[in-house]
Amino acid sequence: MQNTTSEEDTSSLSGRNKPLPRDAMPARSSDAAGQATVAVIGGGIAGLASAYYLQKSGYRAVVFEAAGQLGGLGTHFEHQGVTLDRYYHVALDSDDDLIALLGELEISDRLIWKETGMGFMVEGSLFPFNGPIDLLKFRALPFHDRIRTGLGALYITTIKRNALDLDKVRAVDWLPKVFGRNVFEKIWEPLLTAKFGDLRHEVPAYWVWNTLNREKDGSQEVKGYLREGYRGLADTLADAIEAGGGEIRLQSRVSSLEPGENKVGIVSDRGAEDYAAVISTVPMPLLAKLANNDIARQLPVADLRYQGCVNAVVIMRKRLETHYWTAVVDSGFDFQGVVETTHVIPPEWIGGRHLLYLMNYCGADTELYKRSDETVKRQAIEGLELLYPNFSRSNVEDVRVFRAPHVEPVWTLGYLEKRPAPRVGNSRLFLCTTAQAYPRVTAWNTSIALARETVGAIEAAIGAPERTSVITQHK
Ligand SMILES: Cc1cc2nc3c(=O)[nH]c(=O)nc-3n(C[C@H](O)[C@H](O)[C@H](O)COP(=O)(O)OP(=O)(O)OC[C@H]3O[C@@H](n4cnc5c(N)ncnc54)[C@H](O)[C@@H]3O)c2cc1C
Repeated sequence: MQNTTSEEDTSSLSGRNKPLPRDAMPARSSDAAGQATVAVIGGGIAGLASAYYLQKSGYRAVVFEAAGQLGGLGTHFEHQGVTLDRYYHVALDSDDDLIALLGELEISDRLIWKETGMGFMVEGSLFPFNGPIDLLKFRALPFHDRIRTGLGALYITTIKRNALDLDKVRAVDWLPKVFGRNVFEKIWEPLLTAKFGDLRHEVPAYWVWNTLNREKDGSQEVKGYLREGYRGLADTLADAIEAGGGEIRLQSRVSSLEPGENKVGIVSDRGAEDYAAVISTVPMPLLAKLANNDIARQLPVADLRYQGCVNAVVIMRKRLETHYWTAVVDSGFDFQGVVETTHVIPPEWIGGRHLLYLMNYCGADTELYKRSDETVKRQAIEGLELLYPNFSRSNVEDVRVFRAPHVEPVWTLGYLEKRPAPRVGNSRLFLCTTAQAYPRVTAWNTSIALARETVGAIEAAIGAPERTSVITQHK
């Protein structure tokens, strides 16, 4: 069993860029080609995409990743010779930035699409939840509420086209008006609680409106998966960065940063270095701890709160679920939902196995987050026995538990005005982080779009690479 977070994991160092002993490092270095070098803190998708676009724009990128693996929240683990995702990850057909990047990297042919569906488990009964017919049969609600749910969804996805006003309206106030109190309490409140816990009262209706318009536009739901998972994309990006003269440094935690005149000094496991600019992809509270006082004072939303996630991966020998995703409400189950990713991933890609992800989104300071791996594992098996008559523990090959403390920023009312700009003040510290995603969902597609925006902001702020200063390294 593992108990790791994407921030804390320093295990399983791959062959890529093992850290050098300090005395083996050059005391001073500069780019032969005279390119401006930009440091990127974090080797998740935001960091890798930023480094890739930096290199495309003529800068040299150096990526610092604290863990021993690339990919951040999209990272993986090994199980009996196959690579599996720690957290369930798929693409949507609306992920235009992701799809364009795959094309640029010439790996579009690795992406496959499958039609998927969603279920709703209420008080132990499973209902499909994928369109008007399912809604009419959804006995968890009285008939008039089913009609109201359909009309509410129609209003959100087709009638209400301009929704900026919802940025200053609480979702918990708006949803009962659109769907009625009973539908809100039975459907929406559990879904909001699952995503944002006790902090759901702060979330703007604008986020809900955007998410519904992205995922549920009434057409058949389709989800995509890359052969080799997001690991394949992370590795392809890393190869492209290195091939262009950039550098990926694993197990290289940045411990402080200090913006100065036309540079940013950073201290990492590699020592102290100056860079022409720095892009931070780490959650805002972590960045606030790294930054010196002057720049910390300028950081936007430095006190932003995040939901973490605990998930149990149940590796099965047989398919269990009818749907890709099932939300579970009032059923005595210790998790908020079940995702069976092998409705999208062909089981033959992973040795004929089937993967169930049982998740709880919760704050990293909660009892739920801190439950021992053994407890989470036991609750996963007992919960599956409770919900699915056809579940048998004899079909379980293994259960693994993973935790991440900073998954989903908890958006607050009026967040459009608080959303961080790519540049911190007039400094050379730039941001490409999930705190900027709003109102978009936090996803690889969004991080890729943000990376392009941030690199554009660097070009606008500090000029073309040949006009900027080169890297210097000092002890
Ligand atoms: C359960 C779950 C399901 C999800 N499902 C999907 C999905 O289906 N589709 C989708 O597109 N997205 C999905 N996501 C969201 C997606 O994983 C994230 O939005 C995305 O990975 C965020 O990328 P990032 O690079 O901004 O952050 P991270 O992935 O968190 O990367 C940040 C990196 O910074 C490193 N770091 C932190 N501090 C330091 C430091 N001081 N020095 C150096 N490095 C540091 C960390 O180790 C980490 O690797 C899911 C997430 C979870 C948890």
